[in-house]
Amino acid sequence: MRTREVDEVFSKAVDEGRNFLLEHEAKKICSLYELPVTKVIPTKSEEEALEAARTIGFPIVLKIISPQILHKSDVGGVIVGINDENELISSYRKIIRNVKDRMPEAEITGVLVQEMVPHSTEIIVGSTYDPTFGPTIMFGVGGIFVEILEDVSFRLIPITEEDAWEMVNEIKAHKILDGVRGNPPVDKKSIIEVLLKTSAMVNEYPEIRELDLNPIMASSDGIIIVDARIILQ
Ligand code: ADP
Ligand code: MG
Repeated sequence: MRTREVDEVFSKAVDEGRNFLLEHEAKKICSLYELPVTKVIPTKSEEEALEAARTIGFPIVLKIISPQILHKSDVGGVIVGINDENELISSYRKIIRNVKDRMPEAEITGVLVQEMVPHSTEIIVGSTYDPTFGPTIMFGVGGIFVEILEDVSFRLIPITEEDAWEMVNEIKAHKILDGVRGNPPVDKKSIIEVLLKTSAMVNEYPEIRELDLNPIMASSDGIIIVDARIILQ
C-alpha cells in the first residue's frame, strides 16, 4: 500500500535534484515495508555523531552522506568497527578527509552513524527494470559468488512465496546457506520474507528503477540489511 511517508521520501530526493535515495532514506522506505534494517542516525557534526553513537551503542559504523556519492567505500566513505568515542572522532575526521581528497567536488551533507552488525553470511537482493518485462528481482550470496561466478537467480515482480523459495534454492551457492565449515545454517524463512516484501515494495513504487540491498547479513539468528541503494526513474 502506498503511504504518504514513503511518498515524502521520494519527493524530497526529486526536489533536491537527486536521481537516487541516500542510504538512510532508502532504509527508511525499507523499514516502512517492515524490512529489517540497521539503526541509522544522520549527523552534521562531531558532537551530533557522539550523541548518535551513545544512543545506538558501540561498536558503530560511519558512512559519508553526499548527494554525489553512490558507492561510498570507493571514496573511503565507510569506516566499520569503531569501538569508542576517541575512535569515533578520529574516524569522523578521516572519513571527511578521505572524501575531500578523492572526490573534492562532492558536497558533504553529513555522516551517517549506524549500528555495527557482526559479520555473517552476506546475501544480496536487487531489482532492475527490464524495458520489455518490467521490474525484476534478483537474489544471490555475496562476494565471489555474485561478482565472479554470477551465481544469481531472477524472477519477474511480483513474486509468490513459491517463487521466493525457488529463487533461494536454485542458486549453486545455496548450500552455503545450509551451513558449512561449522557455521550454523542461515534462517531461510527470513530470506523469503525479505524477497516477498522487496517485491511488494518495488511493485507498488514504479518510481524505483533500481534497488540494491547489498550486503544483507544473514545468520541463524535472522537477517539485517546493512546497505540499501535505490535509484529513481
Ligand atoms: P558501499 O556504498 O560502498 O556499497 P556499504 O554501505 O555497502 O558501502 O559498506 C561497505 C562494506 O562495509 C559492506 O559491504 C559491509 O561489508 C561493511 N558494512 C557496511 N555497513 C556495515 C554495518 N552496519 N555493519 C557491519 N558491516 C558493515
Ligand atoms: Mg554496499
